[in-house]
Order: sequence, then structure tokens, then C-alpha cells
Amino acid sequence: MTYRRPALARAAVDRAAERRSDTEWLADAWARAKVLRWDGEKVAVDGDGVLVTGPEDAPAERYFLGLDDDDTPWFAAVGPLPLGTFGATLRDVGTRLGDRDAGLVVHAIGLALWHARHPRCAVCGEPTVMALAGHIRRCPACGAEHFPRTDPAVIMLVHDGGDRCLLGRQPSWPPNRYSTLAGFVEPGESLEMAVAREVHEEAGLAVLASQYVSSQPWPFPSSLMVGFVARVEYGEPRLVDGELEEARWFTRDELRSGSVGLSPGVSIARTLVDGWLDAPAGEVAPTVEP
Ligand SMILES: [Zn+2]
Repeated sequence: MTYRRPALARAAVDRAAERRSDTEWLADAWARAKVLRWDGEKVAVDGDGVLVTGPEDAPAERYFLGLDDDDTPWFAAVGPLPLGTFGATLRDVGTRLGDRDAGLVVHAIGLALWHARHPRCAVCGEPTVMALAGHIRRCPACGAEHFPRTDPAVIMLVHDGGDRCLLGRQPSWPPNRYSTLAGFVEPGESLEMAVAREVHEEAGLAVLASQYVSSQPWPFPSSLMVGFVARVEYGEPRLVDGELEEARWFTRDELRSGSVGLSPGVSIARTLVDGWLDAPAGEVAPTVEP
């Protein structure tokens, strides 16, 4: 059984982290840079790719993203989009972007949202400054270095080992939308423990076995979604923590019929559901396409 690679788990540019501290090299690289543009909510797009500009007129806040095969440096610049250009959210365009652009955009958005939310030192409270071409913040007052955070969350396709999977819905979702269960990993937990806890909290069911499938960054603002399939003993779901409005079982035929609203293709939730739908009924042994 092969699961589709999640839409945002792609990249084609070398991050070249060793260059981030070389200010002379970075200045030269900026002069010949290809620049993608992000305004805090949307990325500038051009057809099915990101809009690429030169360094001219780019806003001052910029991050070095990496080098492509022909040694072209890629940067992101954060601020107003160039006049007359079109912006799109990652949810809108994530599945249509090529590997290079998908990787660049999630990298850029992850950094931009982290900088925007972490202007002050978590140790002493003084303002911090960006360093290492956008990959850390330093505190001039106490010397602390702060690294971008990534918050792991588990997301799991719960199934009964046969032809039923369990999906839930949150009250804020559009009518008839159902999706996989998910939740943040808590301090001191393994991923598998988080899967079991969340399935218990959201659906009152005990996980018999769970297996990792794939992961993808979800930079809203800083999640890494870690995808699993989790087998439970079939039983009536019980909403233990009240986070979901409903959790219920579906057969493959029900989901294939198109009568149930599923998550958009850019989400790893959808790749988990699609992978399970394509699997023969029975134990699901996941692999991910290379
Ligand atoms: Zn400090």
C-alpha cells in the first residue's frame, strides 16, 4: 500500500545552512538573488508557481532559503507584495506548486510567522534581533539565542482493521465536513503515546497498534503534522474531551460516494484518508511514495 507524498512535504533546494553566517557571501548572493514575496498572509504567485522577483525594491526583512542546482540563491522577502501582483494562501496553491516552490514557500512562511510572533527574548524580555540570515534571533541584552520552534502534532487515520475508519468533525467546520483525529504532542510523550491519548480523548477508543506513515510541515504557525494509521477495536465512539462535535465510523463506499466532505488535498489528513481508501480492506501497511 503506497500513500501519496503530502503536498507540502517536498523540496528541491539545498538549504546551504553553512552560508547563513557568511555575511560577505550573503551580500553577494543577495545581489543576484531570486526572491519570493510574502506579505504576512499571502505569497505572490504567477500561474501555478511563485512569483519570482530580483532583489530590487524588496522589503528589508529577508531570509536566505538556499541554493538551487545552478547555484542561484533563493531568498524570501517579507512585506507588501509588488504592485499589481496576485497573492494566494498556501491552502489555495499548495497542491499546484512544484517541488521547488512548495519547499521554498513552507520554509519562508514558517520563518516569517515565527519572527512575527517572537519579537522579544523569552529569557529576559528585551527585544531580539534577527541573525543567521533569518534562521535565529539573538538577544543583545542577555546574549540568548532563540531558534525557530516546530510544534509536533500527531494526526491519525483510525480504522478497525477492516472496512471502517473513524472520522470526526469540529463545530467550526463547514456542514458535513469530516476529517482525521489530530492533536499536539505533550511534553514527555512519544508520538505513539500522543496518538493513543488523542484517540481516547476525542473518540473514547483504545488504540491497539499505530504505525507512522509520513509527515508534513503545516506552518500555521509552526506545526509539524506527523501522520499515523491507528487500529482500534470497533466500538461506539464517545466524545471524552468534547473537542469534537461528532465522531463516527465510515465505510470505504460511503467516503467514495462523494456524500461526505473531506479535507482539502493540501492537508496530510486527506493523504491519509485517500491512502486508506486505496488500500485493500484488512491491515493497512503504509509506505510513502519516494
Ligand atoms: Zn535576553
